[in-house]
Amino acid sequence: MSLAPQHPRVGLGWDRHAVAAGRPCTLAGIPLQCSVGPVGHSDGDVLLHALTDALLGAAGLDDLGTLFPNDDPQWSGAASSDFVVHAMKLLQQENLRPLSADLVVICEQPRIGQHRAQMRNRLAELLELPLDRVNLKGKSTEGGSEAAASAIEVQAVVLLGALG
Ligand SMILES: [Zn+2]
Repeated sequence: MSLAPQHPRVGLGWDRHAVAAGRPCTLAGIPLQCSVGPVGHSDGDVLLHALTDALLGAAGLDDLGTLFPNDDPQWSGAASSDFVVHAMKLLQQENLRPLSADLVVICEQPRIGQHRAQMRNRLAELLELPLDRVNLKGKSTEGGSEAAASAIEVQAVVLLGALG
C-alpha cells in the first residue's frame, strides 16, 4: 500500500502542568493576568507544548521532550513559541504544513473566554494559517475535579498537508 505525500495526516498533542500561586501565566505566547501560573522549565506554556507535540507527531518526528531536552543549554530559557517556530521549520523540510488546528484548555484558572480571541490570533500567526483554520476553547470542570484546580491541561489536534 502506498500513500501519496499530499494525503493529510493528523497529530495529537497533550500536556499538563501543575500551577502555583504567583507564577507568571503565559498561554499561547500571551502573558495573562492570573493569580496562578504553570510550573515548568522555559515559560511553562503548556498550550504551545501540546501544539508542538501535535505538529511533530503528525509529521512522524521525535516529540518535544526529545527535541528540546530540559538540560540542553540551547533551549534553557527559550520561549515556547521558539519550539513551535522550530517545529514549523522541521515540517517545511518534510514538505509539510499545517492545514488546521483545534485545541482544548482544561483548567479552573485562568478563565480562557476573555483571552480566547487574542490567543487564537497568536496561534494562527505561529501556524501561518487563516483564523478560521485555528480554534481554541476553554473548559472548566465546574469544581468537579481537584486535579483541574491545581493544573492546566491542554489537548491539541492538528492536520497537516503537503506544502506544495
Ligand atoms: Zn510542557
